[in-house]
Amino acid sequence: MSKKYHFLNISRRWLSYAVMVYMALALGWWTILLYQKVSDSYEIKSSILDASDPSYAIAYDQLAQEHQRELFMIIGEGIVFVIILGLGLYLINRAYRKEIAIAYQKRNFLLSITHELKSPLAGVKLAFETLKKHKLEKNQEIELIDAAIDENSRLNKLVNNLLLAAKVENEYFVEKELIHLNAVIEEIIETYQFKYPEFKFEFSPSELPAILFDREGVYSIIHNLIDNSIKYSLDKKEIQISTQFHNHNIELQVADQGIGIPEHEQKHVFEQFYRVGSEDTRSASGTGLGLYIVQKIVKAHRGIIQILNNKPKGSIFKIKLPIANE
Ligand code: ADP
Repeated sequence: MSKKYHFLNISRRWLSYAVMVYMALALGWWTILLYQKVSDSYEIKSSILDASDPSYAIAYDQLAQEHQRELFMIIGEGIVFVIILGLGLYLINRAYRKEIAIAYQKRNFLLSITHELKSPLAGVKLAFETLKKHKLEKNQEIELIDAAIDENSRLNKLVNNLLLAAKVENEYFVEKELIHLNAVIEEIIETYQFKYPEFKFEFSPSELPAILFDREGVYSIIHNLIDNSIKYSLDKKEIQISTQFHNHNIELQVADQGIGIPEHEQKHVFEQFYRVGSEDTRSASGTGLGLYIVQKIVKAHRGIIQILNNKPKGSIFKIKLPIANE
């Protein structure tokens, strides 16, 4: 966020506060004046009433009641106005905070996406340059080519996530087909186990009916959740994945023993570009799009996603998907 934009934002905010304070003071002043005027007029009217007149008591009563009504009206209107002003102030403040948060997240996104795009490109370039310049042993060549392929698939994953994020942001048309979730998970875990031999992936499947689901969507959910479990893991490199079938819902859980997500952050991590911490202090790379995409896909299939705290540490992502999700 540029300094000029930030300054403009702050001055706009203070200007709106100043207008509101001026309105509150003006209203207070006019209320006091009106109150005095109504009281004066009551006193004058009551002083000219003739006490010897037989209808004096009734006339006096009417006058007193009318005076009461006027006072209530002035106080009532004052209160309503103060409430409306307060609400206005609250809404301005909330909109301002939201705008600041979005601008901050966008800045973080740009910083991270630049890094995420640059580093695999640099990795691939370096591998090719080394292959070109140096005469290497066959196994060294294979190592370098493997590294370049890895960087390439990282880039591919990132671009796919960006495309998917754009797709789910607008109308997300799911193309449903019958999916056997356990089989898909097994296939995905196999590729992860091969790529991350230091991790232990435990899968506990329950018998499930086939579910009508968007194929690209189901792959994206599982990949994003497992990727996060790996990225945010600590020394205990264990990831537990399980499926269950409960009350016409398929339940999928991905649990890790990693850094966990503080409770007050849990509702935010599904927002677009949102990442816990700031780009300057964060060590794991990312764009803040993964969980946003996952949540959109889950919702498009009428499911829900929850975060639970794992014990003794880490996070559990739990997804419930109704099998009748048409
Ligand atoms: P990112 O590309 O940053 O991983 P995500 O949308 O996938 O984006 O996740 C949003 C944020 O939620 C992450 O930046 C991270 O702070 C937090 N997060 C997601 N998954 C986990 C996890 N398994 N453990 C700890 N923190 C997580």
